Amino acid sequence: MSSMSDYDVIVVGAGPAGSTMARQAAKRGVNVLLIDKEKFPRVKPCAGGVIGKVKDMLDFDISSVIQRDVYGQRFYSPSGLLIDCTRPEVSGFMVMREEFDHLLFEKAKEAGAKALDGNRVVNATQDKEGVAVETENGERFTAEYLVGADGINGVVARSIGFYDGWKGSSAALCIEVEAEVGKDIVEKICGVEYDSEGVSIDIYFGPVPYGYAWCFPKRTHLSVGVGVPQDKVSNLKNTFNEWFEEFKKKHEIEPEILSDLSFRVPYSGAVKRTFMGRTVLLGDAAGFANPFSAEGISEAIGSGIIAAQVIERAVRTKDPKILKEYEKGWKAAFGEDLSVAKSLAKLMFKNEKNMETILSLAHRDPVISDYMYKLIAGKVSYKQFKSTVIKTIVRKYPRAGLSLYL
Ligand SMILES: Cc1cc2nc3c(=O)[nH]c(=O)nc-3n(C[C@H](O)[C@H](O)[C@H](O)COP(=O)(O)OP(=O)(O)OC[C@H]3O[C@@H](n4cnc5c(N)ncnc54)[C@H](O)[C@@H]3O)c2cc1C
Repeated sequence: MSSMSDYDVIVVGAGPAGSTMARQAAKRGVNVLLIDKEKFPRVKPCAGGVIGKVKDMLDFDISSVIQRDVYGQRFYSPSGLLIDCTRPEVSGFMVMREEFDHLLFEKAKEAGAKALDGNRVVNATQDKEGVAVETENGERFTAEYLVGADGINGVVARSIGFYDGWKGSSAALCIEVEAEVGKDIVEKICGVEYDSEGVSIDIYFGPVPYGYAWCFPKRTHLSVGVGVPQDKVSNLKNTFNEWFEEFKKKHEIEPEILSDLSFRVPYSGAVKRTFMGRTVLLGDAAGFANPFSAEGISEAIGSGIIAAQVIERAVRTKDPKILKEYEKGWKAAFGEDLSVAKSLAKLMFKNEKNMETILSLAHRDPVISDYMYKLIAGKVSYKQFKSTVIKTIVRKYPRAGLSLYL
């Protein structure tokens, strides 16, 4: 389809967003160049929890990279109350991003995308005629359209002028540690009764202000970590270490630390525009991580699918104005979820008192804990969750409900 340009579209970043976009566009006959700064397989700091619906969003089998089936989550309140939101039904799965992203990258190539890994993009430009990127190896590629799928520290958004970094509470800082404990200990700590190999994701409120700590079980190791808005933290490493020491003592483990990394995750709402001229932003580059759960993989993949459809039309009709359909598309698909999640996060993470109040009500009231499970399992939208849970709290526990807003 390309005319004077080298490609129809250049996709910068081969995470879940970029590789999905590249595969879906290539399958539609679009001439795609997919570039990533890392050589694949590459590490991405991430807890690797993926909601079940992602299996249906992808058009290939991902069972080879599933480490464990997940049956819901267990939440611990600051005072230690346990809210068990697991059920005898698979709600999601666990992956190592090194393996999961590699599979997605291979699937993009298999569909016909030209892929260049180990080649960092250092600058991107666009004008009325087309787009261009320059790489650290001194190469220059041109195309009709450009996709910034290069994550929170990406170069496309900054070069094109979408925004200039992630300031204040527009992003969270996370510490992610992979701790080898062996299969039996993983199942002892996170196992569920429904399936001898299946697990729960455990979330701890209280160890860090304005955020939470997690334990996500893999085949033989645990991914443990903490996440907090970046402007609310002074020494996250110390806070994490204190919590992790207690965790190890409680479970009588002395794990081998496989990796210990920190990385940021963006909060939605900080990016005002997700398309401009001939360029669109996807996934973390567009700020699509969920501010309540910090999940971003499903939105990254969802945005890749929508962008591929829109860009194929823009290539076919030679009309860049069609890119505005991308923003309409993601807003219709998950925009409301992200904005309701933001309001829930504001209420939940306001202070430790609110975390305790909300979780103690969930501990006491099966309607609330059931809706928490349904939300995790993707059976209700954030809007349905919020309206049912807030209504339940206001109707049955008006004093506690009022205290959340004081
Ligand atoms: C500690 C932590 C835990 C998380 N846990 C979860 C979880 O359990 N579940 C969940 O759903 N989400 C989780 N997230 C969020 C999730 O990791 C992101 O939302 C997701 O990776 C976004 O995908 P993406 O494709 O947009 O970007 P990324 O996965 O960040 O991919 C961007 C790609 O762009 C490449 N790139 C960057 N700059 C350049 C450049 N200049 N040139 C070329 N290539 C470039 C990078 O190498 C990378 O491969 C977590 C995030 C963090 C930090």
